[in-house]
Amino acid sequence: MGNLPPQVNQALALLEGAGFEAFLVGGAVRDLLRGVQVIEDWDVATNARPEQIRAAFAGWPLADTGGRHGTVTVRLDGQRLEITPYRVEAGYSDHRHPDAVRFVPSLREDLARRDFTVNALAYHPRTGVIDLVGGRRDLARGLIRCVGEPEARFREDGLRMLRALRFASTLSFRIEDATARGMEQNRAFLTELAAERVRDELTGLLCGPSAGRVVARFWRVLAGALPELAPPALGRRGWRRVGRALATLPPQPALRWTALLWEGTGPSGALAEGMLARLRLDRRTRAGVLRLLQGRTVPIQAGRKPLRRLASRWGGEAAGQLLALQEAFTQGSGPRARRRRAELQRAGALLEGLLRAGACLSLRELAVDGHDLMTALGLRGQAVGRALQACLEAVLEEQVANDRADLLAFVRGWKGIDR
Ligand code: ATP
Ligand code: MG
Repeated sequence: MGNLPPQVNQALALLEGAGFEAFLVGGAVRDLLRGVQVIEDWDVATNARPEQIRAAFAGWPLADTGGRHGTVTVRLDGQRLEITPYRVEAGYSDHRHPDAVRFVPSLREDLARRDFTVNALAYHPRTGVIDLVGGRRDLARGLIRCVGEPEARFREDGLRMLRALRFASTLSFRIEDATARGMEQNRAFLTELAAERVRDELTGLLCGPSAGRVVARFWRVLAGALPELAPPALGRRGWRRVGRALATLPPQPALRWTALLWEGTGPSGALAEGMLARLRLDRRTRAGVLRLLQGRTVPIQAGRKPLRRLASRWGGEAAGQLLALQEAFTQGSGPRARRRRAELQRAGALLEGLLRAGACLSLRELAVDGHDLMTALGLRGQAVGRALQACLEAVLEEQVANDRADLLAFVRGWKGIDR
């Protein structure tokens, strides 16, 4: 077990000094046991009530954040900690919000309401790890398993299904059989979840190292949360292709969201746009994804000139993403697919070389500007813009080097020149 930051020990000591129990709980315990070096969120559970927590941290900066969950956020020497009273939740008539939250006196009850065994561990430096549900064994085996009866736990809170998939992807864990069956049986409840929560869990899932495997295996559950991509829009084979593509792509959100939508949304982009708006994906990512989707059928050749054109039109980064996506979706082992992948790989290497060499891709990067053309060549008005555009064309076609003297000579001899 790694060492706890001093602020965590201090929080435990302050609560105990006020006469209460306190344990580290949740993802931090899981991640300490996995040997994760950087842990961001530190959650402490205690038998103190919210007002008692605030009293124990009198003099420290506090914020009440959890609303009726009673969570108090404290900041000790720059470290944020979330202190939550032991609690249980009762009645989930809408499959997402407990009808009531009840504070309870025992850690045991608090751990029993948690989602997965690996998330239901508690730790105190004096007592060591407290494991009431076999979480350590599942952690060692790499298993996501519900605490309690999966059917009931997923019916209480449908988000847990997406959390299970997210953890399976980010931790590269398997989902235990009964837990997997519980998801398949409750996937209808996934349509009732808050869009932002779905978005966040899916982004985490898509960007995890095992996203491809999880998507290919649990696509029916995902289609429950994403009815736009349910059959017939995207069938089993389509989802498998998406899974295989995800497995090869770098874990950038825009790239992986694009891969998710690559197969099931039509050429107009309207379906994709509606879906991303519904999920409240941030504006930037949304725009990036929709643009990349427009590039599904853009022809790509492994030649310097066509790649200069592509990078000029799309921007260097997006051009690279487009290449990666087209390659990821060129699947199969036949000679055609192999040739296509080889060509896209050559294109990728060429593009990287061009970008690394600082290739000129836009008017801004030309070695001449409008001022040069006016002072050196006496151009005026619209002729300036036209000449600059001609310079860029010539540089992209590799007819002229992006060099000031060469470009001025080019403009002097340019037929379109008209003073
Ligand atoms: P992460 O690394 O993503 O922060 P985490 O396990 O800390 O993982 P949080 O969402 O921060 O996840 O939640 C903290 C803890 O609260 C979880 O470990 C789990 O014990 C419990 N928990 C969170 N969401 C749920 C839920 N929907 N149902 C039951 N328990 C939950
Ligand atoms: Mg956390």
